[in-house]
Amino acid sequence: MDVTKEAIIAFASDLKDPETGRPLSVSNQVKSASVNGTDVQLEIGLTSFSSPLKSDFASDLELRLRSAFPSVSRVDLKLVEHIRPAQPMGRVGLTAKAVIAVGSGKGGVGKSTVALSLALALKRAGCRVGLLDADVYGPSIPQLTGVRGQVSKSGDKIAPLDYQGMPLISIGFMVPPDQAVIWRGPMLHSAITTFVQSVDWGQLDYLIIDMPPGTGDIALSLSQLIPITGAVVVCTPQEVALIDAIKAVAMFRQVKIPIAGVVENMSGFLCPDCNNRHDIFGKGGAREYAEQAGLPFLGEIPIHVGIREKGDLGQSSGNFADPQISPFLESIAYQLSKHLAQKSAQSPVAPSLPVLG
Ligand code: ADP
Repeated sequence: MDVTKEAIIAFASDLKDPETGRPLSVSNQVKSASVNGTDVQLEIGLTSFSSPLKSDFASDLELRLRSAFPSVSRVDLKLVEHIRPAQPMGRVGLTAKAVIAVGSGKGGVGKSTVALSLALALKRAGCRVGLLDADVYGPSIPQLTGVRGQVSKSGDKIAPLDYQGMPLISIGFMVPPDQAVIWRGPMLHSAITTFVQSVDWGQLDYLIIDMPPGTGDIALSLSQLIPITGAVVVCTPQEVALIDAIKAVAMFRQVKIPIAGVVENMSGFLCPDCNNRHDIFGKGGAREYAEQAGLPFLGEIPIHVGIREKGDLGQSSGNFADPQISPFLESIAYQLSKHLAQKSAQSPVAPSLPVLG
C-alpha cells in the first residue's frame, strides 16, 4: 500500500480506543498525520482512563503500521490527552468511569496496602483517581498515607483531603482513632451514602474503594448506590487465606459485584542477608485459585520489610521509589487496566464505563 496521508488516516481510524474498545474517532482523536517520504508522523489522543496502556498502544500501532506499510522507515508517534468526560453514575451523581472495590476475606492480608498502591499506580500512570477508605472496622489509609485532618464543607458538598494530587476520604477522618464505634446497619448505609453522594470527588477515571474485610453490608449498600465496575480480592498464598478469599468472591457475587481480579500479597520473602526467596506462606496459591475459578490474576507483591516500614511511617508512596517493590505495584494497575479494556472491547454496546461480568 502507498504511504499517503489519507492511507495513514484510514489506518489510524481502524485502531481501537483502549477505553471503549471502539475505533478511534478520526475527527477528535487523530489530531494530526503527515507523510514525508518514508517518514510517518502521527499524533493521537487517548483518554487519561487508559493511561497505563499507552505504551502497549504505541508498540501495537508501530507494529501494525510497519506491517501495513513495509516501506516506512521512521514512525514519529505522539500520544496526547483526549478529554472525554465521565458521566454521572447511578442516582447519586458520582462522576467516575470505573469504581473498583478492593476487598478481602479477612483483615491483615494487606488489602489497604493494595488499595492504596493501586490508586497511586493509576495516578502515577496519568489517570484521575480518587481513594475512599470505607473500612469502617479498621481504617488504615490515614496511617499508611500519613494524611490526618478533618474534612471540611465545600458548598453543599464535603471537601475531600488531598493525597499526592488525589482526593482522599477515610472514615478515619471522621472518627477519632481512639474511639470505638459500633456500626449498625443503617449507620453504615448512611455513612457510605454520604461518602459517595456528598463528597466533591470532581471528575474521576477511577474511584478506588478500600472495603472492610469479609462483611457484605458495605458491599450491598454500595451496589445499591452505584454500579461497581469490579472487585479486586486480595489474599495471601496459604490455604487458610484462600478459603477466606473464596468467601469474599462469593460475597461480591451475591451482591452482583463482578470480580475484576485477584491479587496475591505477601507471596515470598526475598531475604536481604542470603538473597534467597523464602515462600513463608507457600507459593502461587492465589494464582492457581484464580486460574481454576476463571478469574483474572492481577499480580503479586512479595513480603518486603520496606512496605511495612513505610506503612508504619505514613510514607507508603515511597514504595514507588524502591525498584524492588514498584514493578509489582505498577504491574497490578496495568493488568487491571488491561482487563477493563478487554471487557469493554467485548461489550456489544458502546459502554459509558467498562462492563465486567
Ligand atoms: P489489611 O488492610 O488487609 O488489614 P494492611 O494493608 O493494613 O492490611 O497491612 C497490614 C500490615 O501489613 C501493615 O503493617 C502493612 O504495612 C503490612 N504489609 C502489607 N503488605 C505487605 C508486604 N507485601 N510486605 C510487608 N509488609 C506488608
